[in-house]
Order: sequence, then structure tokens, then C-alpha cells
Amino acid sequence: MAYDPEMIQPKRKQPAASEIETDLSRIQRFSQEHDDENWEFRSWLKQNAPDNIDGIVEALSQKYFSLIDCTQCANCCRSLQTEFKKSELHAIAKTLGQSMEAFEKQFMSEGMVNPPCPMLDGKLCTIYENRPEVCRSFPHLEQPGFTTRLIGVIDNVAICPIAFNAFEELKTKLGWLQGRHNRQH
Ligand code: SF4
Ligand code: SF4
Repeated sequence: MAYDPEMIQPKRKQPAASEIETDLSRIQRFSQEHDDENWEFRSWLKQNAPDNIDGIVEALSQKYFSLIDCTQCANCCRSLQTEFKKSELHAIAKTLGQSMEAFEKQFMSEGMVNPPCPMLDGKLCTIYENRPEVCRSFPHLEQPGFTTRLIGVIDNVAICPIAFNAFEELKTKLGWLQGRHNRQH
């Protein structure tokens, strides 16, 4: 999720390769138009994913995190609910030098918070160092059990350029896209 470059050393920023898609409108449109394809791929993965699928997806996630600048996106912070735990809110309030009461009055209480996230300033997370765990792991491609979480993955593909590009490359990398093309012709 989006971060404040003044709070952490800039990272993961390299010139984007021309084939990488970062346009949010195009990603959303492509995902809608290829919804059937994504669900076909999900079914195939459930039966045929290689044993090392988690490692393959983790490597793709790291690749696209290195190529895509979250500070130019922040789409997750602007479009998804975020869950804040009480302990996380305490840490955030402390960092901001606020009492819990003042923080809750100004920003939020624990639980699910609707988008856009109140801690977002433009496209930057103002509490990057203390952002919730769910923000740290989004779009959740580096967690075990990839093939058990594919419904959520397909949802995220439509809003997150990192998830989108990783999922598209996975189709090619596993030979699924070519196999589908051959089956259709
Ligand atoms: S939607 Fe994806 S690419 Fe965009 S800020 Fe969130 S994690 Fe980064
Ligand atoms: S705390 Fe809010 S602004 Fe920060 S990364 Fe999470 S959703 Fe985005």
C-alpha cells in the first residue's frame, strides 16, 4: 500500500518496463473483459498448479513491487476497507503524539474503516511505519496457500497493478495462456 517516502528510504522504484500496465482504468477494464479467463485460470490452478506455486508467486510479487511505485497509485487505500486493530491504533496515536481519545475523535475507531483511508494524504500513507498488517501484506501474494486464496486474488487483480501484472505473467509463465490459445484454435 502507499507509503510516505520521507518516512522511509525510497525503495522499489526503477524505470517501469514498457510492458508493465499501471493505468488503473485499463486494468479495471481488462479485468472485467477477461473475467471468464481469470476464472478459467483459477480452476486450472486448483488442479494443476506446480508444487512450488507459492515460491513462483512470491518471486513475481517481489518483481512487480520493485517495478511499480505505490506512491503513484494508492488505489488500495482509496478503494478497499481496511481493518485497524486496537493495538495498531494505540501505536499510531502514540506516533502522532495524540491521546487515543483525540485520535479516535479525529480519525477512526478499531474495526473496518471505509475507503478512502483517513490516514491517506494524497497518494501517501501518513503512518507508513505503523500501518496495519493487512496493509503491509497487500495484495497478499507473498503469503502461503496461493491456490486457496484465488477468489481474493482475482478481486485484487482488478484494482492493484502489482497483483494484475503478477497474475498476467503467471498465466504465461505456467504455459496456461498458450495452452488455452491452442485449445481454442
Ligand atoms: S493498489 Fe497495489 S500498486 Fe497500488 S498502492 Fe496498493 S499495493 Fe501498491
Ligand atoms: S493505513 Fe491507510 S493509507 Fe496507510 S497503507 Fe493502510 S490503507 Fe493505505
